[in-house]
Amino acid sequence: MEMIVQVTMEVKIPTDRCNINEIFDAVSKARDAYAEKLALTVIEAYQQQVVQTLCRPSGLVAKKGLGLHEAKGSAGRRCRCRRFKRAGYWSDVREFASDVGSIAFRPALIACRRCGKRITPILGALELDGYQSKTDQLFRKTMEAIAETSYRRSSEPLEVLTHVPVAKSTLHRWAASVDWPVSEGTGSRFLLADGTGFKRQPGQRGEVRMVLEMAENGTFRPLGVWAGTDWQAISRQLKARLKGPPELLMSDGERGIERWLSGLTRGTARCHWHFPRGSSYLLWKEKVPLAERKDVLRRIRRLLAIEIPQEDMEVVSREDKEALRERIASSEAELYRLHEDFAQKGYSKAADYFDRARHRLFSHLRLWLQTGIVAPRTTSLIENIIRELVRRLKKVGWNWSDAGATRMGRMVMIRRYDSESWRRYWQSRMNLQGRCDIKLLKWEISHAA
Ligand SMILES: [Zn+2]
Repeated sequence: MEMIVQVTMEVKIPTDRCNINEIFDAVSKARDAYAEKLALTVIEAYQQQVVQTLCRPSGLVAKKGLGLHEAKGSAGRRCRCRRFKRAGYWSDVREFASDVGSIAFRPALIACRRCGKRITPILGALELDGYQSKTDQLFRKTMEAIAETSYRRSSEPLEVLTHVPVAKSTLHRWAASVDWPVSEGTGSRFLLADGTGFKRQPGQRGEVRMVLEMAENGTFRPLGVWAGTDWQAISRQLKARLKGPPELLMSDGERGIERWLSGLTRGTARCHWHFPRGSSYLLWKEKVPLAERKDVLRRIRRLLAIEIPQEDMEVVSREDKEALRERIASSEAELYRLHEDFAQKGYSKAADYFDRARHRLFSHLRLWLQTGIVAPRTTSLIENIIRELVRRLKKVGWNWSDAGATRMGRMVMIRRYDSESWRRYWQSRMNLQGRCDIKLLKWEISHAA
């Protein structure tokens, strides 16, 4: 189909004075007005074209993919007939929101010449779902706006990019309606996992859990966000997504993470930021006197302060490596002494905590000694990300169900930290093949006065 649209615009500066802002303001209003009209014009012309094609007695090739229908009165059975006659229009208009404004048009009906079934061919031709009320362009732009940081401060409806203000609750319903694709692992060396609670509804707590993979150069991508899914189930899902076992699992030592995720990686490491804090907290809970707590913390800080040498692993001398191995062994021995000491004094929680951690605090050093790979020492990256995510879930002020929070969380993560998956998702959803082309052919100016 081809058509020529002629547009004649009038530009007036009645007093012969205006500034640049006024000019651009007027230009964008004019553009908005003709964009909406142009979209409607093209849709209506396209509809005429589709109806005409289907109502022609011949032209099976031209009709390909159009006018598919079930035979009237027999559900599930396809009618093979492709010959139709016009059958009027809907009594209502079909309306949908787009990023250039709201579009309303009257869909045409046709009736099958064999079975008599009445269908609306434009919906299938436009690849519109039966109840779809917005274009994917608008959907995509609003999802991108939700994922922006500034949005959490605003309680206004979102109007940045559309002339159709969309209420926040609607946006959240949209965000929670999409099954975002899962992210496959790319074979990065490190797996970081963390979980945190968030207030869901008054008096109800939810759990958000997150896993990301991180490469040696610090690049990372989220592998998943879950609400109300336990680590055992997450572990099963990850197993299918990972591309070979990562070198190290990094976490704050949460039991569920270590129990269910450590089997997915070659080694397990403990965050060096959390360990002293966790110890201090447990000792305080066991009512250990302040002076003793301070002393324990000093010892922990000292034994954690083993640095990976600045040089590449290959050029570090055998003696220096041996010295490093000895320091690790003596630090682990000291951790064991602390564990025994706590056990004797009856600080059972702290004793257990030290026992579980002592072989995991120096995993990054052992990895370096074996391979020269430098691993992160803390989980601060994933913690910052999950904190940001929870803040967003709280601020948007919705009573999230677990499924809703999972989808919302995944959407925000993919948008912010995985632009490639984001792009691919929309490309496949929108089915953009460049089959509509609009060109500016002529630009004529006539000076009136
Ligand atoms: Zn039919």
